[in-house]
Amino acid sequence: MFDIQKIRADFPILSRQINGRPLVYFDNGATSQKPKAVIDEIAEYYNEINANIHRGVHTLSQLATDAYEASREKIRAHINAEFTHEVLFTSGTTFGINLVANGFASILKPGDEILVSALEHHSNIVPWQLLCERTGAILKVIPIDENGELILSEYEKLLSDNTKIVAVNHISNALGTLNPIKALIDKAHEKSAAVLIDGAQATPHLKPDVQELDCDFYVFSGHKICGPTGTGILYGKESWLNKLPPYQGGGEMIREVSFEKTTYADLPHKFEAGTPNIEGGIVLGTAIDYLNAVGFGNIQEQERDLLAYATEKLLEIEGLKIFGPTDLSRKTAVISFNIDGIHPYDIGVILDKMGIAVRTGHHCAQPIMSFFCIPGTVRASFSFYNTREEIDLLVSGVKKAKMMLS
Ligand code: PMP
Repeated sequence: MFDIQKIRADFPILSRQINGRPLVYFDNGATSQKPKAVIDEIAEYYNEINANIHRGVHTLSQLATDAYEASREKIRAHINAEFTHEVLFTSGTTFGINLVANGFASILKPGDEILVSALEHHSNIVPWQLLCERTGAILKVIPIDENGELILSEYEKLLSDNTKIVAVNHISNALGTLNPIKALIDKAHEKSAAVLIDGAQATPHLKPDVQELDCDFYVFSGHKICGPTGTGILYGKESWLNKLPPYQGGGEMIREVSFEKTTYADLPHKFEAGTPNIEGGIVLGTAIDYLNAVGFGNIQEQERDLLAYATEKLLEIEGLKIFGPTDLSRKTAVISFNIDGIHPYDIGVILDKMGIAVRTGHHCAQPIMSFFCIPGTVRASFSFYNTREEIDLLVSGVKKAKMMLS
């Protein structure tokens, strides 16, 4: 049974006040709040098992190593990867994409093509631009339509024998668009191109099955799924991870080092140089346990209700325009909107005075804002711990802001 009050009680921050009002946290797209189980586990790690991993013969080091590796296995099961060594710990989505882009520098030659979409976060654009500068490869962009959805016929036209990698997000952070990634992956594979999926905005809402998707890489961030900041996962198919060179050199990632020749460790360690965020990696497993205990079915049901309710109520406000798919089954619980003649930043400042946290601006997706010819939007992004009552507060807050600013 999904008991929203019980769920909310798991998140200590949700009972605090902001500017004298109860916090209404609608900036979940930027980062999620953390349940007590996650917060407590961080303290527990430092109180009970803190030690460096993979090195010591002593008991604490073994305990820390076991907990870290058990978390890796938990994450493997969660995303249904075939092998545990296909699951690499990173510091987040950005790191994962940069790791793959850097690796492709040894594969690409001038004239090869990389496809991204017009819906990408800057962290799935800039690493590929840097790669193009290094290799002479060419970046091509899958266009979007007025609903903020990819134009699949254009995608098919862009794919060619020169396409070496396609990098697209599963869900857009700026508009909430749910992309048909299975179809994108299958089409890319017909041209033998690899596919990287940026799952930063998908993993808070669904459980990806990387084998069913058949993606070559899938990246996401721990901090958006109730886990600690500075954690993330790069899933890569074994064959690809064996093909790519290491990203960083250092301790942990070697087999043998001499001044003449160094050889690298097996997967996953080849890509995990240096002392990692040990407690973060362990606690990311705790966060995934927490979400699975809530249940992704429940999460989706609650978020779909919030999205439908908020969309209906906000659209009653004259002059308010929502960007992104109008068919709510093609988007997640994100509402990106503007009000005629009012700057999104001003709305955000007034909402904050009422204790309501939303994001304003370009959401690290400037090309989308350019497409719609706007400076930015107000983005309210919901989580399963949000309520209809909070949406009522948002709607009355937006009405008040509109009155004050027009
Ligand atoms: N891609 C998408 C779609 C995102 O929403 C984000 C975070 N806003 C990122 C990538 C980057 O994630 P991080 O900052 O955690 O590396």
